[in-house]
Order: sequence, then C-alpha cells, then structure tokens
Amino acid sequence: MAKIGFIGLGNMGGPMASNLIRAGHSVTVFDLSESAVAELSSQGAKAATSVEQVCEDADFVVSMLPAGKHVRMIYCGENGLINYLNKSTLVIDCSTIDAESAQFVGNELAKAGVSFVDAPVSGGVAGAAAGTLTFIVGGSEADFNRASSILTDMGKNIFHAGNIGAGQVAKICNNMLLSILMAGTSEALQMGIDHGLDPKVLSEIMLNSSGRNWTLEVYNPCPNVQENVPSSNSYKPGFMIDLMAKDLGLAQQAAQQTSSATPLGAMAKNLYNLMQNQGKGAEDFSAIFKLYSEK
Ligand code: NAD
Repeated sequence: MAKIGFIGLGNMGGPMASNLIRAGHSVTVFDLSESAVAELSSQGAKAATSVEQVCEDADFVVSMLPAGKHVRMIYCGENGLINYLNKSTLVIDCSTIDAESAQFVGNELAKAGVSFVDAPVSGGVAGAAAGTLTFIVGGSEADFNRASSILTDMGKNIFHAGNIGAGQVAKICNNMLLSILMAGTSEALQMGIDHGLDPKVLSEIMLNSSGRNWTLEVYNPCPNVQENVPSSNSYKPGFMIDLMAKDLGLAQQAAQQTSSATPLGAMAKNLYNLMQNQGKGAEDFSAIFKLYSEK
C-alpha cells in the first residue's frame, strides 16, 4: 500500500480520496476548506495543516484543483510543494487545466528531480464516487505505469495519451465534442417537439438511427425522457455549465496555438457563455436544452 498526499477535496477530489482510503492506502489530505478536511479525516485520512506535511514520505501526491493558476501556485508558487517534495515522489495532477500549465509545472518539477504526470478525468461526480473514472494521462511510459498502480483504485479506464500535457489536450478534445453533441441533440429534439413529436419516441428513433450518441444513450437533455439524469431533476448537476464553459475556453486556447479550425467548438463556447450570462452557470450542462425549449 502506498503513502499518498491528496490536495483538493472538492466535488471530485473528496470521493476520489475516499476511494484511496477504502483501497487501504495511507492518505494525508489538504484543502483550504476545513470542513472538507474534517470529512476525509472522519473516513481515516490524516489531516495536513500545511503543504509540507502532504509531501512527507509520500510515494504519490495527487491534486484535484479548479484551474491552471491553482495548480501552478500550489506546486511552484511561493512556499509551493516544489520546496518540499522528495525525488522519489510521483506527482499526479488530475485537475482539468491548460496543457501549458501542466507542461510548466512538469518542467519545473523535473528541474527539482521530481516526476510529474497530468491525469485529467472523465466521468463526473458519480464516476468519482463509484471509482469508475476514466483517467487520461500525459507523461513518460514509466511514470504512466507507476501512476496506474493507484489510479486503478479510483477509475476503470486508464489511458496513456502521450507526453506531459497530452492528457489535457485529449480531455478538452473530448469535452469540446461532448458540448457539440449536447447542443446538437437538444436542437434536434426541440425541432421534433415543435412538430408535435413525443421526445421519448424521437429519442428512441435517433438512438437506433445514425444520430445515436452518448447524450441520447445516458444523458438525455429533454426533461422526463430518462430517469435519474439531471434534466429530469431540475438540471441539478452533474457537470456544471461553468465547468463546461471553462473547458471550452481551454479548447479555444488550444486551437489557437495550433491554428486548428474549431468553428463548432467556438459556437458551443458561445452557447455555454450565453447560459452563464443568463445566470445558469451552476446548472447542469444539459440545461443547454433550455436555449431551444424556452422561447
Ligand atoms: P471543486 O471546486 O468542488 O473543488 C476544488 C477544491 O480545491 C475545493 O475543495 C477547494 O477548496 C480546493 N482548493 C482550491 N485551491 C486550493 C489550494 N490552493 N490549496 C488547497 N485546496 C485548494 O471542483 P471539482 O468539481 O472537484 O473539480 C476539480 C477539477 O476537476 C476541475 O479542474 C474540474 O474542471 C475537473 N472536473 C470536474 C468534474 C465535475 O463533474 N465536477 C468532472 C471532470 C473534471
């Protein structure tokens, strides 16, 4: 069993750390939120009061933070972990951030002799709780193999996307596609409804035709077509519009760096920003359906 430091115990990090404890690892946790630390302590984690304590004798340090600036700060900022990490520790950052920040942190840690992989996840809060996340890892083959030894305690599918930063690129490619599928599915469903079709019947038809996609399979955006999905629960997240908008911003940033053509990704970003401007940022990302249904 490994000694693991875990930083960032929010919606995702909290249940991920719980799964590491359940798997028998010795887990030391750190978060700015005292209540989040207290909750994990009640499950058997050691509470760290400083980042220094997270690093002590750790085989792995895992972080799950909101954005690139938090990851840069916690590792490389003033009094950052870089000052305390042992050379034998492997750092695994699971946050969804820009590839440049992942590469910056990876390079800085490498200068200090510490290994790093980026390992953003797909699968949401439910996947984090169930231990069925997909991890998309960027880093060397050896570090990928080492990281996999504990990622399998939090997830089901572990992919090696390439070098440091490649995990982030693959993740935002996926989320850009997902947002386009969610908007497109909403658009098609509402057009059918406007013409008098039953959305359950139309969903079933498209599920068995060439429009089939993940949103129709397990995350239908139209209320009361499927049970136990955010659209049938007042669009309670789930995966928040604010987070999807963040990922779509990262996707456009990445597209600009390589002059990649992403007109549909840009359009999806505009639609999700519009939802944010309407004060709906905290709703589930399938609430994009309302842009079409609320006329
Ligand atoms: P969250 O806001 O619930 O949790 C972030 C946690 O980090 C909070 O507990 C916060 O207190 C802590 N934190 C922030 N700065 C810190 C610091 N300097 N030191 C210590 N702790 C600090 O966010 P989340 O939903 O858990 O998402 C985390 C990451 O996972 C994001 O990058 C997000 O894009 C990604 N993600 C989220 C989902 C989802 O469905 N929520 C799905 C996939 C990926």
